[in-house]
Amino acid sequence: MFKYTSIQDYHTDLLNGTVLCTDAVQHFLLQIDKRSNLNAYTQVFSEEAMQKAAALDQQRKDGKPMGKLHGVVISIKDVICYKDHAISAGSKILQNFNSVYNATAVERLLAEDAIIIGVTNCDEFAMGSTNENSAHGKVLNALDETRVPGGSSGGSAVAVQAGLCMVSLGSDTGGSVRQPADFCGVVGFKPSYGRISRYGLIAYASSFDQIGIFANNVPDVAQVLEVIAGEDEFDSTAASEAVPAAAAVTTAPVKPLRIAYFREALESPALDAEIKENILALIDKLKADGHTVSPVDFEYLDYIVPAYYVLTTAESSSNLSRFDGVKYGFRADVDKKTDLTDFYKASRSGGFGWEVKRRIMLGTFVLSAGYYDAYFTKAQQVRQLLVNKTNMVFNQFDALILPTAPTTAFRIGEKMEDPIAMYLADIFTVFSNLTGIPGISIPLFWHSNGMPYGLQIMTNRFCELSLLQLSHQWIQRYRFAG
Ligand code: GLN
Repeated sequence: MFKYTSIQDYHTDLLNGTVLCTDAVQHFLLQIDKRSNLNAYTQVFSEEAMQKAAALDQQRKDGKPMGKLHGVVISIKDVICYKDHAISAGSKILQNFNSVYNATAVERLLAEDAIIIGVTNCDEFAMGSTNENSAHGKVLNALDETRVPGGSSGGSAVAVQAGLCMVSLGSDTGGSVRQPADFCGVVGFKPSYGRISRYGLIAYASSFDQIGIFANNVPDVAQVLEVIAGEDEFDSTAASEAVPAAAAVTTAPVKPLRIAYFREALESPALDAEIKENILALIDKLKADGHTVSPVDFEYLDYIVPAYYVLTTAESSSNLSRFDGVKYGFRADVDKKTDLTDFYKASRSGGFGWEVKRRIMLGTFVLSAGYYDAYFTKAQQVRQLLVNKTNMVFNQFDALILPTAPTTAFRIGEKMEDPIAMYLADIFTVFSNLTGIPGISIPLFWHSNGMPYGLQIMTNRFCELSLLQLSHQWIQRYRFAG
């Protein structure tokens, strides 16, 4: 029987001839079918994936060189364009729409021989923290089906959690990779803003959005990052900084680090007592192992969620204005005499879900004359203060640790009636998107309620290599058994 551990082990088995790419694809197709009740996938490309696997098996037989992701079975979130395949962003408004080009990340995956097995479910336009806001229905957490997987990339998290692929691409605007990884007990990585091209990623809030990676282990994350990151002529915000080599992640020596944590974060009343206790215990272990761990005052904690929601809704109200029923997807069935404004209204009212509408309205409000300075400008000022704070922190420290989320996975429906409570639960993840620094959630802990949770680690902008190195080392050393 096929058993997956890591890309490296899989490649060794392929080279030894003990396994074939077709075995891997068949295995995942079977698992996807068995766990279809989780609703992690919105599309599965069974035939295509099998054909690609067979072609790769033949290439190896013929002695052709293997791509870096040869036969690696990957799923992609329903906001990442895959040419000639349907894409919906979890929304009715993109109904029957097919991508007309590949996202740069997808182009690079395919160029290194990855097999894209399907598209994963998500909150509509990546807006949400539970994956309950999807036109394709909610996703269930595979460890407890009465709980959410987190969001917005819930399908991707569950696809990795339940063994329905090897690796998955998600997107993270305010925590949508790290928080579901935390809720599902897998690794979830968001790179620095600009590290991975956003070309072909459906925009939510363009100055925050980044493609992120879900995997079972850090070396797999590093391998995928090496392939998809880097400069791109189609996205001027994609940075030219050298991309970290995956091989350097596992070979780094363990060295003493200067680690910071935000005092107010660990003292936050929203933080579950047991999560706090376990993180404090981990801090003691880090100190005992020779690291310096120091609290840093963070006077802005109460401002980060409001600043995030003002700025991202403003950007989304502008980004989502293109969905008007004229060019793509859903078009309301209106009387021929209806004028253009009423036609737009009917298409947008019928096509968007309630959470997306709420955010478009909020964003339009904070950008409107008379309120612009009070909300949008103010939030931009907060963002600048946070960037200044980040620079100060990383002048003195190598890494910053925080909880990923204040609680473990919510019960289904628990936060649906109270959007503010849902937004406030983003308190620990939005910081890295507001400041553009990389962040990761690594699955270290188990709660007495039976659910896993992670530790969030951040480093300075473009310091992904050290972030991945220390994450790999910490998982090996501090991971608690379930
Ligand atoms: N939960 C956050 C939100 O709803 C994060 C979304 C995201 O990262 N795409 O905005």
